[in-house]
Parts: sequence; C-alpha cells; structure tokens
Amino acid sequence: MEPIYLLEAWKVREMLLRRELTPREVLQAVWERVREVEPRVNAYITETWDAAEEAVREAEKDWSQGKDPGPAAGLPMAVKDILCTRGIRTTCASLILENFVPVYDATVIERLKAAGLTMIGKANMDEFAMGSSTENSYFGPTRNPWDLGRVPGGSSGGSAAAVAAGEALWALGSDTGGSIRQPASFCGLVGMKPTYGRVSRYGLVAFASSLDQVGPITRCVKDCALLLQLICGHDPKDSTSLPEGVPDFLASLEGDVRGMRAGVPRELMGEGIAPGVKRIVVSCFEVLEDLGMKVEEVSLPHLDYALDAYYIIAPAEASSNLARYDGVRYGLRVEGEDVLDMYSRTRARGFGDEVKRRIMLGTYALSAGYYEAYYAQAQKIRTLIIGDFRRAFERCDVLVSPTSPTVAFRLGERLEDPLAMYMSDICTIPVNLAGLPAISVPCGLDQGLPVGFQIMGKLLDEVTVLRVAYALEQALGFRARPDSSKGVG
Ligand code: GLN
Repeated sequence: MEPIYLLEAWKVREMLLRRELTPREVLQAVWERVREVEPRVNAYITETWDAAEEAVREAEKDWSQGKDPGPAAGLPMAVKDILCTRGIRTTCASLILENFVPVYDATVIERLKAAGLTMIGKANMDEFAMGSSTENSYFGPTRNPWDLGRVPGGSSGGSAAAVAAGEALWALGSDTGGSIRQPASFCGLVGMKPTYGRVSRYGLVAFASSLDQVGPITRCVKDCALLLQLICGHDPKDSTSLPEGVPDFLASLEGDVRGMRAGVPRELMGEGIAPGVKRIVVSCFEVLEDLGMKVEEVSLPHLDYALDAYYIIAPAEASSNLARYDGVRYGLRVEGEDVLDMYSRTRARGFGDEVKRRIMLGTYALSAGYYEAYYAQAQKIRTLIIGDFRRAFERCDVLVSPTSPTVAFRLGERLEDPLAMYMSDICTIPVNLAGLPAISVPCGLDQGLPVGFQIMGKLLDEVTVLRVAYALEQALGFRARPDSSKGVG
C-alpha cells in the first residue's frame, strides 16, 4: 500500500471512519514526512504543530464519544500564508508582516475549524501573492517536489509543493490570476478557482480585491469537491460574497458528460504553448470526445489583451490595498526623522522588489494624467472579455485549454525577466477577469514533468466544471507522483 502521507484525503477519511486509522497516526505519518523532506522543499513558512496536535486531540475525544469530529478532522492541511489564522502568524511571505499575528480567523478557516480542520502549516508563497514561481518569498523559494531544481509555480507554490511532497494531504491556496491552478499544474495536482464571490474573502489578505478567490489544491477531483463544499457559501462579512445556495459538489461528480460541448479558445492554443504541452492537451480532447463530448474550436478575440489588462488592474488594486502597510498598525516599523520618513523607510525595507514594482505600476496607472489611458482602458477590455465568454458559453458548456503554456521552469530562469514571468499566466488570467470558475487537472507528463488541463465554466457552474474534470480524470486514469531521481520520491 502507498504510504499514508500520499493517499487522497477522501480515502484517509474513509479509513478513519472505519477505524482502520486514527487521526494521530495520520498526523504522525505526515509529520515524519515533513521532517524528512521539508529541508529540501521549503513548502512551509510556519509549521503549526501545536494547532495540529490540538485538532487531533479534539478529534480523538469526539471519536471516543462516538461523535464524528467532521469531514476535515484528522486530514492534515497546508494553508497558504495569506489567510489570517488567529494566534498564528500570517506573513504573506513578506518581511513587512514577519511578526504579524492576526486576532481573528479568515471565514474559510473558521468554517474549516467547525469541520475539524487539522492545519499542519502555513504555506510559502510569492510575497503578497505576486508571482508565478514562489521565488518572490522573503522566506526563500519553495522547490518543486518533482525536480528540486525547478519552481513549483506560484503564487500558491508552498501549498502545492506540500501536497505533492506528502507534507499535507490537501491545501488551500488563493488565485488572483492563476495562483492556484498554475502551481497545481506544475506539481501534478488538482487546483480550482471558484466563481468570484463563491468563497468568502474575509481574512484573505487582499492583493487585487476584484480578482482574488480562495480555493482547493488537492490530489484528485473528489478531494477538490469535498474541500470546496466546506469553504463555499455566503458570508455577510464579505460584501462581494454571493447569496446563492451551494450545490452538492460531490453528488455532481458522477453525472454524465455525454452531449456536452467543450470549446477550445483558439487564442489559448497558439504561439507560446510548448509543443509537448500542446500534444498532451490535444490528446485529452480525444478523450473527451470518447466520453461523448463535442470538442470544437471557438474564438474569444479579446483574450489577446487579457494579460495586458490584468497587469494594469491587479497592480492598480494592489497599490491601493498595500497602502495600509505603513509601519503604524501592522508588522514592521523602521523609525525615521518624521512620520513621512518613517513610512518610506518602513516600506522601502519591508517590501521586496516585485511588490515595489507592482505598487509603482499601479500608482502610475491610477495617477491623474494616466488613469484614462491605462486603468480605464483596462476596465473596458475586461468588459469585452466578459462579453467574449458570455458569447462562447451560449454554445459551449465548458471551455478547455492548457493551464500553463509550459511545464515547471528552472529556479532563477525567469527572475530577471518579469515579462517572461508574467507570460506564465496567459491561460489562467482570463477567468479571473471574468469572475468564472476554472479547474486544473493533471493530464500527463512532458519531459517527466506534469502538465495541467484547464476546464473553465459558466458563472456559478462549478458543478459542470467538476463533472467534466472528474470524467476526464477517471478516463485518463493518470496518477501523478514525483520520484526520487530529481525530486522527493
Ligand atoms: N502570477 C500572477 C501575478 O503575479 C497571478 C498571481 C495570483 O494569482 N495571485 O499576479
């Protein structure tokens, strides 16, 4: 049998329910694995042994009284260090928040705690979620468990690496422009960004508030559906949270996909997609056809401008959101001559290069003379992209594409070239701009490294996205596990 730390969360849950395992044994297995591989992977910023211990103690007490401690109990989870956790420092991988200890839990954490959350650590990430490689972390880069010389993707790279390496059974990430799906793709995992407003952003440290969503990173589609179920739903504490009811995601997996239409946006299959990635993605189209789906090319012409629009809108929102880190209320303060000097010293020292780059880009785009030329234009493009999706979904049930144009790249390869780094997000950004749900499913290996298949859905139609993802996963029968030649097998 596979080691416990590599099992799907739902399987471990069944074993716990059948009393074939105890929460303590699971935690022990995962913990030993962390001790073994973490020095090489660096998936965590803060290991939360005490919180995990306490959760397990609670769970065992419940079991012994014949009570079910909940669907997340005894299933060690990595939580991206952008989600506020009461009493546990939440750094966003930034020096400026190095010692910030929130006094409240994010809503998703609160909900998961009610379901028995066993949090094993706060996962590494790009500083303030800005990046696609987890190299922009004050706490050093995370390495890809498949090949330690490569990046795990980002910005939720620590979450993905933890799950791929067996340092957690599942994880939470956040996705503003691909930060759940791209690392899931690079690490051979399932990652989903829900519809904007499905999951509360309360307690999620804001990067670009009109784009940010929390979502699962898991080993299989079923785990993804289970975790999604636990975090979705209306939250009065988030004014953008949707009032819609939450369907039963698990029940939706088994439904038939026969007769459904999948559109392939031409704009996401062209130049820049690595030949190996393209080949595997195209072979998945055939699998979908064998399942009775119709796969056809569609065009969303304004996707060609999605990256440009995103890299105006996201920095603009970030420049405003990050204004709060001024040395007064949060974290780091560097004293100066007067209060203005204190602000600028604090921010100069506290933020890394990429964060400063975004703040400057965003401030520039929003400044009086340039607002119309940049920010307003970008918003118009955003509206056109929403229209493109609406038209495509009149014909199609889902849209499909690669998740990332390439497999995981080498550490350092794109650090000096921000544009090359930004190009990593070309396939993932469009749904963030349109607020739509999308998933990445592992679909094969190119040069020994995982490739992700992206399925995008209509607004609030996670059910169809998950159903197609599950059908594809079952039909492919592809299980991705790193080995020890270059990674941590
Ligand atoms: N890589 C993109 C960026 O740097 C997306 C990040 C994210 O989704 N948080 O902005």
